[in-house]
Amino acid sequence: MIYNDFQGKKLSALGMGNMRLPVLNGDDSKIDVDAAREMFDYCMKSGINYYDTAYGYHAGQSEIVVGELLKDYDRESFYLASKFPGYDLNNMPKVKEIFPDQLKKCQVDYFDFYMFHNVCELNINQYLDPKYGIYDYLMEQKKAGKIKHLGFSAHGDYDVMKRFLEAYGKDMEFCQIELNYYDYRFQNAKAKVELLKEWNIPVWVMEPVRGGQLATLPEEQTAKLKEARPDEDVPAWAFRFLQSFPTVTVTLSGMSNMDQLKANVKTYEENKPLSDDEMKLILGIADEMIERTAVPCTACHYCVPHCPMKLDIPFLLKLYNEAMADGSGSFIAPMALASLDADKQPESCINCHSCEKVCPQTIHIPEELKKFAVKMGRA
Ligand code: SF4
Ligand code: SF4
Repeated sequence: MIYNDFQGKKLSALGMGNMRLPVLNGDDSKIDVDAAREMFDYCMKSGINYYDTAYGYHAGQSEIVVGELLKDYDRESFYLASKFPGYDLNNMPKVKEIFPDQLKKCQVDYFDFYMFHNVCELNINQYLDPKYGIYDYLMEQKKAGKIKHLGFSAHGDYDVMKRFLEAYGKDMEFCQIELNYYDYRFQNAKAKVELLKEWNIPVWVMEPVRGGQLATLPEEQTAKLKEARPDEDVPAWAFRFLQSFPTVTVTLSGMSNMDQLKANVKTYEENKPLSDDEMKLILGIADEMIERTAVPCTACHYCVPHCPMKLDIPFLLKLYNEAMADGSGSFIAPMALASLDADKQPESCINCHSCEKVCPQTIHIPEELKKFAVKMGRA
């Protein structure tokens, strides 16, 4: 296992993400504890010492199971990370209830790493609003030793991250972003990496294979990768891409079975960053994938004032693209939709077509929103 240095700690470069643990009967809230235990044993034996969970993963069960499984190991032998669930605005006033509950669920006295979860357009105002006291409370927990390192995870755009950093950046020790060769351009992750570098904040990576989307590629693209590195399989390229960034410290993979875990552990036996030519090749493949994106919305916002339902059309279309690119609908789209009011959902569109008249991309917005709602099983 490769280790990276963080403030004198040796963190395994591959971290165990606990949002896609094996489940029983396809029910996300019923984790297969025996299968997960076997995976944790393998992680520990392979040198993985970083475990990431969150309040909402597996309908609240991830923290409980992770706590149960890690209690078999010496507390000093692993680093545990969790997050404050501000992706749901109802939680904003509840940090003093939720944080102690999380420690209890995880059966620990402290978190090694703790984050503001999913800082984005929808919650930045609340995260920065002193009336909720989230930042003050978390800083108090840090002083009390219940949080060793404080950071944030971000799904928001560059400007949102910048705003958050301008407010709290001096106290942020790490930041978890979605970084992979597809999002490097598609979600402007390149600029986010550079922004964090300016702030001297190391990068934690989530979605390295984009929920499995980058684990398999069409035949032609797979052949190009095989030609460049005959010994490397397709998912390994996603990790080699990340190994090419010096500020990337921990890469979290939400592994669901032993095969994935074993393959990823093998990849992390060696650090093999991409050469310039290999980087060009993989980013070229990403560009081809981006061309297949469902809706070419540029988030210009021209349409927004024309919507009688006050829908955040560019945001909904961005989520639609996420869901389409992923194939499975990803976890981001359902989570983001759950944080929107019932009358701000894709199916809330009343088909008035006012928005289309001003869209420079000539997108058939109501049709696309309808398709999105259907894909999410909402219509
Ligand atoms: S068609 Fe739908 S999204 Fe467009 S303006 Fe009308 S209600 Fe809003
Ligand atoms: S006007 Fe068109 S391109 Fe602009 S934000 Fe709306 S849907 Fe996207």
